[in-house]
Amino acid sequence: MSELLSFQQVCDRVPMGIVILTGEYRVVYWNRWLEQKTGVPAAQATGKTLKELYPDFENKRFVWAMENVLNNHSPQVMSQSLNHFLIPIPINNRGRHGLSLMQQHVQIAPVPVPQGSILAMVSIQDVTENVIRSSAYTELAQKLMEDSSRDPLTGVYNRRFMWDWLLPQLKLISRAKTPLACLMIDIDHFKKINDQFGHAVGDKVLVSFVGVVNYCLRESDVFVRYGGEEFAAFLPGNDLKGGVNAAERILNTINTSCLASFDAGRITCSIGVSSWDYNDPCTGEDLLKTADKHLYKAKNNGRNQVVPVIV
Ligand code: GH3
Ligand code: MG
Ligand code: MG
Repeated sequence: MSELLSFQQVCDRVPMGIVILTGEYRVVYWNRWLEQKTGVPAAQATGKTLKELYPDFENKRFVWAMENVLNNHSPQVMSQSLNHFLIPIPINNRGRHGLSLMQQHVQIAPVPVPQGSILAMVSIQDVTENVIRSSAYTELAQKLMEDSSRDPLTGVYNRRFMWDWLLPQLKLISRAKTPLACLMIDIDHFKKINDQFGHAVGDKVLVSFVGVVNYCLRESDVFVRYGGEEFAAFLPGNDLKGGVNAAERILNTINTSCLASFDAGRITCSIGVSSWDYNDPCTGEDLLKTADKHLYKAKNNGRNQVVPVIV
């Protein structure tokens, strides 16, 4: 008797839930932590089944774990990541992390009793804070990853992302046999804007320029700051003709857009286009090289134009 009392005294002091159940899921012990967290006094819980206490209680994994404990005497763990919780206990900071119930790590151990039968001791650990912390870390890691693939000034992808994306993309389209257009876009005489109005204004023009090009592209297109005032755009599903059409659309929209809040003169761009085709495949480097060669031609031909010209 004194041993049982000391067991209860210990269980009433531990910072976790402890409930002892019979084979019929009837509560024979409900510790103080559970009283405090659930608001159900031990006197009310004792003798009841979990289903009687919580009419919505329906947990196949728990039933399976209990069977293992009672029949095979093997302790069981029900991790939070799979089960989330056993006993529904509302938490206060609901909504902050999309959690309205306490997240629980549950262990079930067999407890032999003198009459030869077996009880199950279920211990419940509150792991809500760990879950919130780990989801914050995951969010942070995602943000860092996102930041490391974007250009800080304009927010478009950087070159590192471009290669990470382009190589698997080429493998994918060789299997799917779909084309991919590549545009190299360079702002004309951008140095003059910097020289005339200053670097800060140049930065603003770059951001406006990106906004206009982005407006012309589809969500499935990948837009990259290739360096300085030079950009690359990849248009999956577009052959050379589709790429040239998109390039002309960009060129015309830039021509009719106001890219600065003052009269910075007409801002134009030149665009070189290339494409990856299943019948004439090339490497990622060659795709960019051809677009760059066409861009150089567009510059030499007088700028503010797309090369090649397709009629
Ligand atoms: P072209 O028509 O031949 O392309 O002439 P351009 O003046 O645009 O080309 P050039 O390569 O001579 O000069 C590019 C300029 O772009 C020089 C560089 O200072 C400027 N630039 C590159 N990156 C940035 C940036 O992040 N912000 C600003 N403000 N300027 C930049
Ligand atoms: Mg330029
Ligand atoms: Mg340039």
